[in-house]
Formats: sequence, structure tokens, C-alpha cells
Amino acid sequence: MKNSSKEHRRLEIKIVCAWCGRDMGEKDGAGVGGVSHSICEECLQREEAAVNRISAEAEAG
Ligand SMILES: [Zn+2]
Repeated sequence: MKNSSKEHRRLEIKIVCAWCGRDMGEKDGAGVGGVSHSICEECLQREEAAVNRISAEAEAG
């Protein structure tokens, strides 16, 4: 039989990469729980590379 003790659960916001869905950890939600979307290092670099390519193509016009 499991003893369910009163656990003081702090609300936390889960951070998830909006691009690949990678779990990026949690941060203190300051009383508000939920999910916050961010971008991980990998996707950030990929997005930056894509933006650079687009601007380079625009310059080449
Ligand atoms: Zn990602």
C-alpha cells in the first residue's frame, strides 16, 4: 500500500522547443503552470542558416 503523503507541488512551466518538440527543461512558473515554447540550440542554428541563405539569395537577386 502506497503512502500518499502530502506533497508540496510547485507549479512549473515546461519549456519545449516549438520546432522539434525537444524537452528543454522547466522553469519556475511563479504560481502558473503550463507549457512555454522556445527554440533549442540546434533549431536556432538551423533557422539562422535558413535566414542567411534567403538573404544571400535576395542579394544575388
Ligand atoms: Zn529544436
